[in-house]
Amino acid sequence: MRAVVVSEQGGPEVLRVEDREVPEPGDGQVRVDVQAAGVNYIDIYQRSGTYPMQTPFVAGSEGAGTVSAIGPGVADVAVGDLVAWAMVSGAGYAEQVVLAADKVVPVPDGVSGELAAAVLLQGMTAHYLVESTFPAQAGQTALVHAAAGGVGLLLCQMLAAKGVRVIGTTSTPEKAELARSAGAAEIVFYRDVDLVTEVERLTDGAGVDVVYDGVGKATFDAGLEVLRPRGTMVLFGGASGPVPPIDPQVLNAKGSLFLTRPSLAHYAAEREELLQRAADVLGQVAAGRLDVRIGGRYPLADAAQAQTDLASGGTTGKLLLVI
Ligand code: NDP
Repeated sequence: MRAVVVSEQGGPEVLRVEDREVPEPGDGQVRVDVQAAGVNYIDIYQRSGTYPMQTPFVAGSEGAGTVSAIGPGVADVAVGDLVAWAMVSGAGYAEQVVLAADKVVPVPDGVSGELAAAVLLQGMTAHYLVESTFPAQAGQTALVHAAAGGVGLLLCQMLAAKGVRVIGTTSTPEKAELARSAGAAEIVFYRDVDLVTEVERLTDGAGVDVVYDGVGKATFDAGLEVLRPRGTMVLFGGASGPVPPIDPQVLNAKGSLFLTRPSLAHYAAEREELLQRAADVLGQVAAGRLDVRIGGRYPLADAAQAQTDLASGGTTGKLLLVI
């Protein structure tokens, strides 16, 4: 079976396709014939060295496919089941993967493997951000950065469905159109205009209740400026680079602000929470309430190109490796 392996961390060129033995599941594990693997920023951080990793490892951490073998002690997953997983390092860019049975979730009827691989990680991320980290409520205003990105489009939909007014930021008119159709009421072209002035205008000087920021370095300071007193900064990523250290006193000076830097790893760590979050997200997809935009499909051999495209900032929605 073929897998995309990182032998040493570095640029996209370190992603190489290797032929490997078909893996056998051990105790509590399942083997899955992968239909599609998600391409995510965490894959880039792990490949590049931003996150230290023991090499060699199979790139990727999200996918979906059919269970083709189960190891001893696996009770609630059977051969033939369509399953998906997210945030499982070493289980992604490969024709077959072995992973712990308690990391996979069932894919409901009406959702294909490809769709499940396209939505699980980013969908559960948007879900915990709006349901658990800052449970946004009708009548509130949220600023969502990179609103036409993978997480961004899902955030817009989930917030708009709750009756939250979404101000989305993005870089091009095409992306703006996508964000609007996902529910953003207002768009700010954050590379062309002064974000603080624009958001002050759009909120009549009141500021926003919450900022969902996956862009990081380029947007963080302005985000603090546009929050209302006691507003919440949810910094969940750094597509433009990591945010430098800040003095906590800044949060006081700008109005007793709250700052959090959450990760999906801590919002789906327990099996029960993982199952509930996944069921809610995949259920919304099955019911047609959540639209999943696949912005690009690549063969396994083009994994390096897929990561390069995601890091370039030019993509929309989700990038997938279709196996
Ligand atoms: P996106 O599809 O949102 O891609 C990133 C977007 O960021 C680009 O399309 C671009 O949109 C914008 N951007 C702004 N500046 C830059 C830059 N310098 N380089 C590249 N892109 C830039 O990616 P994802 O939806 O996959 O992820 C979004 C963020 O969420 C990432 O930071 C990721 O690490 C984080 N994340 C965090 C998780 C968590 O639990 N904490 C889980 C999953 C993802 P535009 O053209 O509109 O500016």
